[in-house]
Amino acid sequence: MSYYSLPALPYAYDALEPVMSKEVLTLHHDKHHQSYVDGANVILKTLESARQNGSEVGMKALLKELSFHIGGHVLHSIFWENLAAQGKGAGIEGKLGDVLKKEFGSVEQFKKEFTQAAVSVEGSGWAALTYCQKTQRPLIMQIEKHNLQIYPTFRILLVLDVWEHAYYLDYKNARPKFVENWWTIVNWDDVTKRLTA
Ligand code: MN
Repeated sequence: MSYYSLPALPYAYDALEPVMSKEVLTLHHDKHHQSYVDGANVILKTLESARQNGSEVGMKALLKELSFHIGGHVLHSIFWENLAAQGKGAGIEGKLGDVLKKEFGSVEQFKKEFTQAAVSVEGSGWAALTYCQKTQRPLIMQIEKHNLQIYPTFRILLVLDVWEHAYYLDYKNARPKFVENWWTIVNWDDVTKRLTA
């Protein structure tokens, strides 16, 4: 059987400083992301052994928990690849720039709306830029916790984790400042790759 595993970061733990400290990135990757990987695998094993034993499990609760952990694992895996050291992620150009300008009028307007989405997430969650293949339009979504409000088949291009564990040690309660600084470490090459893949 194959299970989930924690991907290595595509850069050093201090590579995103000063926007994201080495301490925060280490905890976030090694502890938080790891816990979602472990949580998903434990549930998969619970389901497997229940099948072997012919025993009943509380399917509704188990699947909700599985969705939470797999969602957390998948979103964090995208989040790490979406980031790069300041000045390393090139700019918004080509098809990505065209798509954003056509939808939002300007890149600045896209950033403004995405920032509003991220800052206004209630409690723990994410802002995400997604792409609907059907309408060929980008769409900003808010994700509560890890597992709600994702439209099936929409491609996820860019995600921003605004759980407190993503910024509290560095920014205390100043989520807007974290979001403002985060724009400087977005890896636009990766976002473009997800759009054109
Ligand atoms: Mn997180």
